[in-house]
Amino acid sequence: MRIAVFPGDGIGAEVIAEALRVLDALRLPGAVYLAGDVGAIAYQRHGHPLPQETVETARNCDAVLFGAVGDPSCDHLERHLRPEQAVLGLRAQLGLFANLRPATMFAGLEDLSALKPEIARQIDLLIVRELNGDVYFGDKGTRTRDDGQREGWDMMSYSEGEVRRIAHTAFLAAQGRKGRLTSVDKANVLETSQLWRDAVIEVAAEYPDVALDHMYVDNAAMQLVRNPGQFDVVVTGNLFGDILSDQASMCVGSIGLLASASLGEQKTAHGTFGLYEPIHGTAPDIAGQGRANPIATILSAAMMLRHSFGRENDAMRIESAVAQTLADGVHGGDLGGSASTKEIGDAVIDRL
Ligand code: ATP
Ligand code: MG
Repeated sequence: MRIAVFPGDGIGAEVIAEALRVLDALRLPGAVYLAGDVGAIAYQRHGHPLPQETVETARNCDAVLFGAVGDPSCDHLERHLRPEQAVLGLRAQLGLFANLRPATMFAGLEDLSALKPEIARQIDLLIVRELNGDVYFGDKGTRTRDDGQREGWDMMSYSEGEVRRIAHTAFLAAQGRKGRLTSVDKANVLETSQLWRDAVIEVAAEYPDVALDHMYVDNAAMQLVRNPGQFDVVVTGNLFGDILSDQASMCVGSIGLLASASLGEQKTAHGTFGLYEPIHGTAPDIAGQGRANPIATILSAAMMLRHSFGRENDAMRIESAVAQTLADGVHGGDLGGSASTKEIGDAVIDRL
């Protein structure tokens, strides 16, 4: 098991340290960890937020465990030298096109949800967002029309192949969960969405054990707050997924709890190559104080064991230890508690 570890900036190193202690406590056979620089710290040391050496390290591993990148002191730099480019560059260079974001309501935290506690309690879903296509990458521009008004455009497009590969990722994820998949589109008005829907239906034939349904994105946004318990896995395009995944995050509470995975097509011995990171950023306001909640990163490590190493049991052990830690009231500052980064790591390890 070769794992690249890129802590990055701000609280990145603090939360990664706890995730590594948790992995260590599992005594994984043959685990090897290779460190690399990303973000502002990489810019300071190597003159680039994503040094070639770091990309090579990632390529020599089965998975990347990533902290966070960003630093207010880099705001004046040209875009391609900004720390945030590290994660975008890694995703592009490693061919990672599927972003998985689980949203689970932990017992005892219902009051932190934006939803009513009895509705929040039902949330246990996974959003699978396509990352490489859609309106963000289509032809775009602005021009001045004959009537003197300025006009802007961004073309939304998906190829069948792009839809099929994200659909496979989502069906496989559904097989590992409750076996339900909701594909979200806007097929009543968008050609891209009609093609999306057709391609997803085609792929569904290979997964007869997964129950597939389709939902328009406006309805999905409503259902996510009205009756989130109906969702297991949700698959959608880049734009809709961007919005829905943030909406889902806020339904379950703190940013310090939410993990993510970015997967591609490259296979490892027991799964898929992936990059795993908390959804939060570098939190400059609390960096260096030992107050960051490491749970999002610990849960990202659990996703890594599941998707890149096929170690479902170990992933579940971590997830139950985290759930127990939270249920026992070991809460960091983001949850209104006072546990330190290390105390939370210790509490999870105690419960493994
Ligand atoms: P970046 O530009 O790196 O994304 P940001 O300030 O935009 O940074 P975050 O770093 O996600 O966004 O921080 C948003 C808020 O959430 C901050 O107040 C931060 O302290 C808090 N926060 C983020 N992550 C954590 C965490 N793991 N534990 C506790 N608080 C956190
Ligand atoms: Mg941010």
